[in-house]
Amino acid sequence: MYIACLIIFFILGLHIGSFLAVIAIRTPKHESFLTGHSRCDNCNHELKFLEMIPVFSYVIQRGRCRHCGEKISSLLPIVELLTGCLFALSFYLFGFNYNLFIALGIVALFIIVLVADIIYMIIPDQVLVFFSIYFIGLQFLNVGLVQTLYHILTGIFLFALMYLIMLAGNKLFKKESMGGADIKLMFLFGLLLDPLMGCVSIFLGSFIALPVSLYLLHSKHEHIIPFGPFLTLSLLIIYFTGINTTDIIRFLGG
Ligand SMILES: [Zn+2]
Repeated sequence: MYIACLIIFFILGLHIGSFLAVIAIRTPKHESFLTGHSRCDNCNHELKFLEMIPVFSYVIQRGRCRHCGEKISSLLPIVELLTGCLFALSFYLFGFNYNLFIALGIVALFIIVLVADIIYMIIPDQVLVFFSIYFIGLQFLNVGLVQTLYHILTGIFLFALMYLIMLAGNKLFKKESMGGADIKLMFLFGLLLDPLMGCVSIFLGSFIALPVSLYLLHSKHEHIIPFGPFLTLSLLIIYFTGINTTDIIRFLGG
């Protein structure tokens, strides 16, 4: 039964990953993700049911459009697989409870931010608003009104902190150092973490981003890299590993 649940969450994740990618690709272009058919980017051929099965279709068609033979981006099957694995991992770590729904929300947020930030270098406001409501709702049901208000205040604190970091960065580098979405993203983090762990998430995100940005700067002369995916990945790591303030204080205290 347990294995069956893991497999169900994996398959569910494959399909939701596909849906999340569509949201991430269409929302910044102000297109609806609920209506309209998926089409080949090259020949505009409308995809049939068999061409839209997550990962499977891509493998069967050997990564090419069945109609025009043009190569299909491998981003979609990678995103689908990643979502499938993270959904199964969420169930494995949390079982059936509120934390599972928070974990699945973080995974969904991570996937959308990853895809949207890689393609457009933006995170749509609608996405941030949706997840704010989702997390506030879940927290209210899980920990009650007072704790939820505490988390909203933490969100405002982290938002303000990130804003100050951006101002300092702008002065230091004499150019725009951070996107507005990264600052708004911190409000969401406050809804799930306490203030100290919120700060840790910024450090961890920067720490993961550093080698990647050095690599991109060196190999592709890419000066601007999206920060959102690294921040969201650090939120995911913190929530999934369960590292908390006590661990950090013990670590710093030696
Ligand atoms: Zn085509």
